[in-house]
Amino acid sequence: MTDNHQTDRSHPPQGPLAALAKELPDWLETSRIQASSGRVASYIPELAGAPYNALGITVLDGQGVSVSAGDAELRFTMQSISKVFTLLLALIDHGEDGVFTKVGMEPTGDDFNSMVKLEIVVPGIPFNPLINAGAISISSLIKGATPKEKSERVLAFFRDLAGDSSLAYNEAVYRSEAATANRNRSIAYLLKANRVLEGDVEDVLEVYFKHCAIEVTCGHIARMALVLAYDGTDPLTGRQLIPRRYVQIAKTFMITCGMYNASGEFAIRAGLPAKSGVSGGILTLVPGRYGIGVVGPALNDKGNSTAGVHLLETISQAMDWSIF
Ligand code: GLN
Repeated sequence: MTDNHQTDRSHPPQGPLAALAKELPDWLETSRIQASSGRVASYIPELAGAPYNALGITVLDGQGVSVSAGDAELRFTMQSISKVFTLLLALIDHGEDGVFTKVGMEPTGDDFNSMVKLEIVVPGIPFNPLINAGAISISSLIKGATPKEKSERVLAFFRDLAGDSSLAYNEAVYRSEAATANRNRSIAYLLKANRVLEGDVEDVLEVYFKHCAIEVTCGHIARMALVLAYDGTDPLTGRQLIPRRYVQIAKTFMITCGMYNASGEFAIRAGLPAKSGVSGGILTLVPGRYGIGVVGPALNDKGNSTAGVHLLETISQAMDWSIF
């Protein structure tokens, strides 16, 4: 990965990225103050120790020039950000018809780990692939003979997208979630009863918990987002990793439900497709221009990084990045 941070004088950023590099440290410190009103997620015990006022960002362009600020090197688990990419792998494995008979395309208005609509709305398929119920169904669609083989396919796909063959899942976070996931387990069994979920429930959950626990930095997230910004082709290698149509589907879900029940607000204030996770990560992108990774572990009451959302809204408004 070409990783030319603003401190790398041999590849100074040019144009808009140079303007961003100049302002970014100040914007980041202003946004960091917001962390004090948030809380680090603790329902997965292993996440509770994350530094609550950390804030980092990496913005990467199609020439491989990046600008970073703050705690961009902090390692964190992808959590719900990973759902975007397992959706893409399931689309590659089964096509649109195969996926959308098992999961819907609509926002819910409910919490990400809600199961209420699985009971009351016929035919009991999850509303979309970014809520837990949807992502658990997607995990069951990943091809592979065993959970191990499925998880290895997921990891290989994520490594290609992140341009880092050493990407791996965090064993402690995986075990911590697997040991305490009463709610996700309930959802999965309900999906099995509704005949949405294929295969053994615990096997499916293993694949799901493992992809949520894949450990990254802001640089990895920025690189994965860059592939989405370039419609599925990695501009740094020229390799097409995902069909354009599937990237279009993923980006649409990111706009309509990527930021939980604050997706509308984020679309209005930042105007960018984005996906957040409970460890405080946010993946976002400016189509045709930048992939962006952010981390800030303290979450607001909607479950998004308090300081991360503030930072992205500030940057997008100042740089006029909204796609709308
Ligand atoms: N692994 C987490 C869970 O299932 C992911 C949720 C999230 O990031 N919102 O609860």
